[in-house]
Amino acid sequence: MPILGRFTTVNHSIMARKRLFFTVRRLFHGCGGMAAIRWLRRENLSILMYHKFPEDTSALDRQCHYLRHHYHVISMSSVASALRSGSPLPDYSVAITVDDGHRSFYENAFPVFRKHQLPVIVNLTTGPIDAQSWLWFDRVSYAFINSPLQAVTLPSLRMGDGLEAPWRNTVEDVVLEGAERRPRLADEWMERMKSFPDSTMRQILSELESCLEVSLPSKPPGPYAVLDWEQVKIMARSGIDFGSHSVTHPILTRLTGLAQVEQEIRGSKGRIEAVLDRPVAHFAFPNGQPEDISDEVLRVVRDAGFITAVTTSGGQVQRGDNPYLLKRISCKPVMPDYQFRQHVAAFRVR
Ligand SMILES: [Zn+2]
Repeated sequence: MPILGRFTTVNHSIMARKRLFFTVRRLFHGCGGMAAIRWLRRENLSILMYHKFPEDTSALDRQCHYLRHHYHVISMSSVASALRSGSPLPDYSVAITVDDGHRSFYENAFPVFRKHQLPVIVNLTTGPIDAQSWLWFDRVSYAFINSPLQAVTLPSLRMGDGLEAPWRNTVEDVVLEGAERRPRLADEWMERMKSFPDSTMRQILSELESCLEVSLPSKPPGPYAVLDWEQVKIMARSGIDFGSHSVTHPILTRLTGLAQVEQEIRGSKGRIEAVLDRPVAHFAFPNGQPEDISDEVLRVVRDAGFITAVTTSGGQVQRGDNPYLLKRISCKPVMPDYQFRQHVAAFRVR
């Protein structure tokens, strides 16, 4: 078969498979498949996890509408009470969490959640709010996206387990062409950076910015902007709850010594309590994967007086689960409606 003919046949078979997949999905949703999945999992709790919010909130508005009509959206304090007492939650329970403390929550999402009267907890990283400065991972993203270069040589950060390695020893030539490529590269380097001790990671951060020839604005612009305390107070008066997400968003197991861990966890809690004059009872682990949470970190969180802590491990919460290792389901305020419905029911969520 000529090459072009073979290519066309392969292309047709991919398109046929896609069409079949769309048809099956439409039939599944149209015939009440999601209602059946929701019913089977009605006793489980889904804790949704959001981060940044775009200006266009039409999809978020539909998500809130769907939650209002198909779920009981409850506060994290209700989650804590049920887990402590062992009593069941209402069927179809959902809790909504927002991590990091970007300004886009106040400007874009808060009016939507308020309109639908849904309880939300926002987990704040207090250091950047105090300094009106950058979250470290946003610096990586900004540097890759805004570099004036088309190609660059970067430290590869691929030295064994990376813990004590001379990370400058190997370099990698990276092509920066293509707008889609840059966010992917930022994510890739961010992941590599996470394997280093926190102090080394921050040195790498400065070096990356200098290699990429980017000078950061002192105040993070646009989607990188963080909340200020006045906005936090306004939202607290309107019923938004606030939790702690550390002071500087480090990976807590990559800090040096217990004092630093205590400072990140207790320092953030104390700062929010001082501003809002109310107890802060809920914690969200930065990064939140199993390897980021040691027994020592868990003990500090418990001893600091938190009653729940959420991770970024995916899945629903069941009766009897540890209130300090709560799983969540990542949601984006721009995802297609069918996908959001699947995510909330923890269906086909990786
Ligand atoms: Zn975070």
